[in-house]
Amino acid sequence: MSKHYEVIVVGAGSMGMAAGYYLAEKGVETLMIDAFDPPHSKGSHSGDTRLTRHACGEGLDYVPLALRAQKLWNTLQQQTSERIFLNTGVVTFGPKDSLFVQTAINGGREYDLNVETLAADEINERWPGITLPADQIGCYEAEAGILFSENCIRAFKRGAMQNGAELKTNDPIMDIEILEDSAKVSTNSEIFTADKLIIASGAWNKKILDDINLKLQIQPSRQTIAWFNSDDILYKSDGFPGFLQMYQRTFIMASLRLMGQG
Ligand SMILES: Cc1cc2nc3c(=O)[nH]c(=O)nc-3n(C[C@H](O)[C@H](O)[C@H](O)COP(=O)(O)OP(=O)(O)OC[C@H]3O[C@@H](n4cnc5c(N)ncnc54)[C@H](O)[C@@H]3O)c2cc1C
Repeated sequence: MSKHYEVIVVGAGSMGMAAGYYLAEKGVETLMIDAFDPPHSKGSHSGDTRLTRHACGEGLDYVPLALRAQKLWNTLQQQTSERIFLNTGVVTFGPKDSLFVQTAINGGREYDLNVETLAADEINERWPGITLPADQIGCYEAEAGILFSENCIRAFKRGAMQNGAELKTNDPIMDIEILEDSAKVSTNSEIFTADKLIIASGAWNKKILDDINLKLQIQPSRQTIAWFNSDDILYKSDGFPGFLQMYQRTFIMASLRLMGQG
């Protein structure tokens, strides 16, 4: 007979492992299943760091979510010796008419965040590693910074297991059947059922959702990354912020690989 859970989480990467952690913390009987063993090198979470900000250029509605997330990151940081968050500050800049930059500035004002609006020459002066032309504008959020994405998953994983969640790794889900009041999930090796299902399979979401006839308009997109050697005097992490540049309707984001990291 297949084992039954209150919730099965499909994919235990950034979203899925966090969901499993918070469900288990609430005492919900949870199984997380992943095709690999997160953190791993094939997920969207792979790599050292991810920028996190509260004055989000993506839209004002994100600001309360980002502020709530920051509280939860801070709590997670208190529960683990691994580094979760580093407060580097983040500067966002782009052309003066950039909607993204303007929204970040407006978000700072509307939610009374510690966000400074800066002209190009002020940015150039404050961080000599940046050289912007005069037609650019930006803002600096001192409380923003970087998350250590793989450490976050490790901390969620440990906490979820301590609170009784189960995790099945290296076992891809092959089939999902939605029944009247439950879901049946078949992996390569076993079958499980649950009252509720959380699909958190990242770049694979479309395939899984298509298979259960939930045809949502989602499209995975490739994010190109590059590592550059840098001048430690100009760019060392205790004096240089993470940054986001709007460039021809696309982002350039950068956070630093810290000194002493591999
Ligand atoms: C290069 C890069 C830079 C980024 N920079 C930032 C940034 O600075 N700030 C920011 O906020 N965000 C950033 N992001 C986005 C952020 O990293 C992602 O939004 C986040 O990691 C997505 O998490 P996820 O759980 O959806 O996916 P993942 O972490 O990839 O987790 C999905 C999991 O599902 C599993 N899975 C898939 N299919 C199956 C299956 N059939 N059966 C079982 N398991 C399955 C996978 O193995 C994987 O572990 C960046 C992303 C990239 C790629």
